[in-house]
Amino acid sequence: MIRKLYQGISDVVDQTGRVRKQSKGPQPHSPLPTSAKCDKLREECGVVAIHGHADAARMAYLGLYALQHRGQESAGIATADGQKLANIKGMGLVSEIFTDDVMEKLPGSMAIGHTRYSTTGDSALLNAQPIRVESMKGLIAIAHNGNLVNLGNLRAAMEREGVYFQTTSDSEMIVQLIAHSKAGTLVDAIAESLSTVEGAFSIVMMTRDRIFAARDPRGFRPLSMGRIKNPTGPDTIVFASESCAFDLLRAEFERDVLPGELVMVTEDGVTSRQYANGVKQSSCIFEHVYFARPDSRIYGRWVQQSREMMGRQLARESNVAADVIVPVPDSGVTAALGYAEECGVPFRFGLIRNHYVGRTFIQPEQRVRDFGVKLKLNPVRNILEGKRVVLIDDSIIRGTTSRKIVRMVRGAGAKEVHLRISCPPTVSPCFYGVDTPSKRDLIAANNSIEEIRRYIEADSLAYLSLDGLLGSCDTMENTGAATGYCTACYTGNYPTEWVDVREILTAT
Ligand code: SF4
Repeated sequence: MIRKLYQGISDVVDQTGRVRKQSKGPQPHSPLPTSAKCDKLREECGVVAIHGHADAARMAYLGLYALQHRGQESAGIATADGQKLANIKGMGLVSEIFTDDVMEKLPGSMAIGHTRYSTTGDSALLNAQPIRVESMKGLIAIAHNGNLVNLGNLRAAMEREGVYFQTTSDSEMIVQLIAHSKAGTLVDAIAESLSTVEGAFSIVMMTRDRIFAARDPRGFRPLSMGRIKNPTGPDTIVFASESCAFDLLRAEFERDVLPGELVMVTEDGVTSRQYANGVKQSSCIFEHVYFARPDSRIYGRWVQQSREMMGRQLARESNVAADVIVPVPDSGVTAALGYAEECGVPFRFGLIRNHYVGRTFIQPEQRVRDFGVKLKLNPVRNILEGKRVVLIDDSIIRGTTSRKIVRMVRGAGAKEVHLRISCPPTVSPCFYGVDTPSKRDLIAANNSIEEIRRYIEADSLAYLSLDGLLGSCDTMENTGAATGYCTACYTGNYPTEWVDVREILTAT
């Protein structure tokens, strides 16, 4: 079957006939996991925006390329040239979708882009972004990172009033609210709409002649602003989910978009307004633990710096006699370096990751998936044999992967295997843009640390304390101000209302 993998152009279809599977709903409860379900939390989305560049589409492409770790399912770029607004999105990686012939169909000096792993809405091209909506206020395109939590109520109310939704994605809610707002100006309509929705959103928006960027009042997801100096004309203004994108664009990091801030960029320059005030900040701490790239600076602090501190603090809290410190690559590497430095035990790559395992193995058939860990990781026997090994990882979700890794290290001859996790136990699901299993599938929500240790077959198991994590991500030394963090997946204390109670009840 040939399946169309693009939206926005009619003459490019998938040449290979690849079909991406839809994501599946929650699995039935089991007290301890028995299957090899995906055992890592999924990245959310990445957004980028460019204003005032002759080749805005290519700049957006580069930005998305740097943000590919935030979502590999679909990507899209919308451009505007002052008159028209083009929008092309497709299924797959940024480099697969945006070939030269596709890029030629995206003219203009403004662009927004999005790379997605779906957290709400069907996992399909229909819900790929940017989403474009025609309204009384003109054409609006939006790219959104995060998750709205009052979607059901709002959507039902708007549908009763006759609003037709083109997608099942929560991101369309924001554009429809703008489109149907009675506010006199577009910027007032945007501010009003952003005040109405509850949840996590770092968004970039574009009309035919303007770019907007905004963060939700709690600042759940990161969003940074940068600038490319132009000696002969106006500077190019760029926005990206993570500052690592600016390096590829050769843009200078200027500042974070503030929680509750709406920034507008036009030919006349940059203006800003605070559409929400006085809301307690709750930026996602898991960005520092796992999601964001270590070369990014988010919420005013380098991710690398935070992860190294997590490792150091973990060593202070739960050191154990060992011969070698081994990271679970790639995300455990920086914390393992900090741990090794703190306790003075050698750091070694005792597990090697195969970087060429493609997305083929993300959701294959069960019998293939059982090979998942072995395909991704392989032990280095001469580093592990006869050693007391401390393994450093960033999370245990269902426990299935951790158990396989512990078995793998022991199978390679390790005398003892101690697992250390660079954050507290994950006990509650996320509703703010991170694809977490429901509570019944989170091993730490239903088992004590000792029960988990026995399940994963480690000699010892310890997690970083919540205070240790918060201290590792403290921004005071970087910015002179303390960032307020969301830690709901470790505490169950959600910073917003509108949480589905059925999801957070402990399994019985
Ligand atoms: S619940 Fe966890 S993953 Fe979700 S926003 Fe809060 S800290 Fe981040």
